[in-house]
Order: sequence, then C-alpha cells, then structure tokens
Amino acid sequence: MRTLPFKIIFAGLINALIVHSTHGQGELEFSSRELSSTEVELFCKNSGPGSYSVRVDFNLTNMTSSRDDNSVFVVPSGEEISFAVLTATGGKWKYGFSSDYVQGDVYAVHDEQHIYHLPHAGGRDVRIMQGYGGSFSHTASNALDWDLEEGSPILCVRDGIVVDVRQDSQHGCMHPRCIDAANFIKIEHSDGTIADYAHLQYQGSEVQEGDSVSAGQLIGFSGNTGWSSGPHLHLKIFVSTFDARPTGIRTRFHTSRGARYLEEGQTYRF
Ligand SMILES: [Zn+2]
Repeated sequence: MRTLPFKIIFAGLINALIVHSTHGQGELEFSSRELSSTEVELFCKNSGPGSYSVRVDFNLTNMTSSRDDNSVFVVPSGEEISFAVLTATGGKWKYGFSSDYVQGDVYAVHDEQHIYHLPHAGGRDVRIMQGYGGSFSHTASNALDWDLEEGSPILCVRDGIVVDVRQDSQHGCMHPRCIDAANFIKIEHSDGTIADYAHLQYQGSEVQEGDSVSAGQLIGFSGNTGWSSGPHLHLKIFVSTFDARPTGIRTRFHTSRGARYLEEGQTYRF
C-alpha cells in the first residue's frame, strides 16, 4: 500500500475587511482569520476519524510567517489547530500556500512494549508465507504475509480506530502494477501508528471508518486483491511518512509459544 500526499491550494488576498474563509478537500479544511490589519492567522480542521500530518508551502508577498515552509504539523481527529500567523511587512501584501498531507502522525513513536494479537482465527496453525524484508514483495518493507485461503476471518491485531476502508476491488495479479487494486482496512492505534490489513476480499470489510475496534475482533475477510501471488493477508504496522511507502515496524505477537517476532516459513497459533 502507498499513502499518497494530496494537494490543496489556498490563496487569499486580505483587504480592510475581516474575513473568515474556508477551502478544503475531504476531511481537512483550511481557514483564515484576520487578527488585525497586518496579521492573519491560519487554521486547519480535521473532521476525519484519524490524525493527519500536514505541511504547507507558503507563497507570500510582503509578509512573514511564524511557520517555516514545509514544516510538518499534526492535526488530531476532530480538532482545529492554528498553524501559522502571517504578518505584513509593509506595502501591498498577499498570501497563499499549497499543502500536502498524509493520514496518520509522522511523529508517532511505536510502543515497543505492545504485544499484538494474531490476525487469524484461534486454534489453527497458520504459516508466515513472507516475512519482514521478504524477497517477493517485502524487500523494503517490514510487513508479514499470512497464508490464508479466500474468505478467512481477519481479526484486529490491536485496539484502535478505523481510519480508512476500501472493499470495492475485484481485481488482483502477481505484478506490481496491481498494487493499487488491493482492498484494505487501516486502523490507527493510541501511539499514532497505523495497521494496514491488505488484499481483503471484495466487500470483505466488517467495519467502517470511524469504528472503534478491539484486538481479537472480527474486522473482515481475506482475499487476493491487489499485487498478490495468491490468497493471503498482508499486514504492515507503520508510522506515516511523506515518502510513497512507509517502511513498517517489526512487532511481537502473542503465540502459543509466548510473545515473539514472527519468522518466514514458520507457523503460529494462539
Ligand atoms: Zn505482503
């Protein structure tokens, strides 16, 4: 999976009047408020279920900004934050900016003490068909693939909030060109990391964006959509980045043999 930045353009020209203008796309909304005849405060509001990391590139004429170009700020779910104050330096002034954003918190630090729940039904051994750094498609990725037939129940590995769901794809193939055809569920955890459960079955999600979910809860069904060599579950826990594809994090899971990192070719159960 990749997390592509979206672009928002905001441009304003403040005259003598007080204005409150908004311009947004999807779950993020930008607005401005004139504090005085020479100062403008900029806000970003997040109406989505998860956090967003945002960076803006200012285009200022006769103004300075309290925030550096392209410095990243995080807007938690349901909050509106002030991210910059622009100050006129004399003469005719105007401002604008473009912005990129990615879902999640780029400053998140993974809780290394957390032990994850296995994502498949209990009481059965399931093989890790590709491990961290695996040679088929994980060479640059700390992700795990479980060997699960189409339609297998997928359990939540850690408590969190569902921040993104796709389940309309009916397509998969063994070529990287199919990477964007994967169905998925993304869940944000309390430490700001995100779990991406991928290759799910068509219409294979049991949860919706905004749902609060618990470890061990049924969230969907495995499939073979996207870039995939056969039915399986691909799971990656990651900290968001503005790079196309986050590397992912190695985590421990509760297994019948104790808490451990999972290895390619081995089978595990709980
Ligand atoms: Zn995989």
